[in-house]
Amino acid sequence: ARERSRSTDLYLRGRSVFPGGVTRATIELDPQPIYMASGKGAYVQDVDGNRFLDLNNNFTTLIHGHGYPPVADAVSRLLHNGSCFSNPTHYEIALAELLVDRIPTVEQLRFVNTGTEAVMFAIKAARAYTGRPAIIRFAGCYHGSYDWAETGQNGVMVHNGVDGTTGLPGYAGAPAQSADDVIVLEFNDIEALERAVKRHADHLAAILIDPMPSRAGLLQPLPQFVARVNALAKRHGILLIADEVLNLRQGYCGASHRYGFQPDLITLGKIIGGGFPIGAIGGRADVMAVFGGDAPNPLVPQGGTFSANPVSMIAGLVAMETLTPEAFGRLELMGETLCGELRECAARLGRPFSVAGAASLFRIHPKSLLPRTYTEARMTAGQTQCMRALTRFFREQGILLPFGAAACLSTAMTERDIDQVASVFQQFLQSQHQPSWE
Ligand code: PMP
Repeated sequence: ARERSRSTDLYLRGRSVFPGGVTRATIELDPQPIYMASGKGAYVQDVDGNRFLDLNNNFTTLIHGHGYPPVADAVSRLLHNGSCFSNPTHYEIALAELLVDRIPTVEQLRFVNTGTEAVMFAIKAARAYTGRPAIIRFAGCYHGSYDWAETGQNGVMVHNGVDGTTGLPGYAGAPAQSADDVIVLEFNDIEALERAVKRHADHLAAILIDPMPSRAGLLQPLPQFVARVNALAKRHGILLIADEVLNLRQGYCGASHRYGFQPDLITLGKIIGGGFPIGAIGGRADVMAVFGGDAPNPLVPQGGTFSANPVSMIAGLVAMETLTPEAFGRLELMGETLCGELRECAARLGRPFSVAGAASLFRIHPKSLLPRTYTEARMTAGQTQCMRALTRFFREQGILLPFGAAACLSTAMTERDIDQVASVFQQFLQSQHQPSWE
């Protein structure tokens, strides 16, 4: 077992100042948090000197890995000239121009600091534009922590007497309206979508969709489903919000473009900040006008002390500029190779595992059939135990694999890293560490 006494000491200190010992619900606590000391390229090193290949990359943010020199250089130069102003800077225009140029739907955009804020403002924009309050979202998907966006993220669907698909609020004591105005459907379920839109069209501001929802299982959108989402939204004047906070990394033009979604608004975050806090709402210029058109008062006021701060802007610009079509092509190839090797390994050893994913993202499921919906992706207690054991095994072998979320590659990785991941998976399947849950 690996040394972890320094992490243990820090956790003890953390426990006295933070509820739960840490300041993010997403920190891996099994069996205790690992405190990081540094990161370089594809690898991180913890405070006890253990080195890990990082397949988490701060929840898919660091597409170039850690300490990416072009970003580090640009940010260090900038810091000496001031890190934030109450005035705009040219950096925000340069990053916005790059995104408008690459992402087909994005004619204009606004910067914020997190994906949570981006989704919140996109929902507010859709309400202001349509004059309607409600949204449709999909079970088990994560969209940050705005009340209406987190309702239903746990996937629990409660019969509401009308159409049987309202979600549970995201936290205890949430206002009841946050559940009343959110319809939670199963991803890829065309009939449920048609029923809900037919019943609630006059009430619906938006359909909020992640093109390949990670937490729900990294589910692949079925082409017929994509076509129905587009058509129903258009026909009923409901805005389609594509949450690409995570999935923009699927390609040079993003994930909606890749799968054929035609969103009116897109939310962005993670990779567009080059490793610094960021979020953005982009979309059709006539919809984006709710944030500031010709009228003296915008329909949706949107500010933020650190919105468009030059540090995030320059870091994002440099990170995105170096993400050329060739860089995406290389990531795609590495991802395909890895998914292929993992699938082949499970098949050869006759183990019930499937691998979801595309481009630089993948997720191993303890299921012989690839899940198409959140319900299919949900794990039994035995399967959860198995995935816990897999995550621990990977960590012992020096690889950080996220539990219950998408793993990802970075441009800092090499074919050797890919081979190592595949080889550790094979060792796990062959080892006695695998509980007999099947
Ligand atoms: N939407 C999606 C699809 C996400 O993956 C995330 C973060 N994992 C968010 C929104 C929230 O972003 P943030 O953590 O920056 O608030």
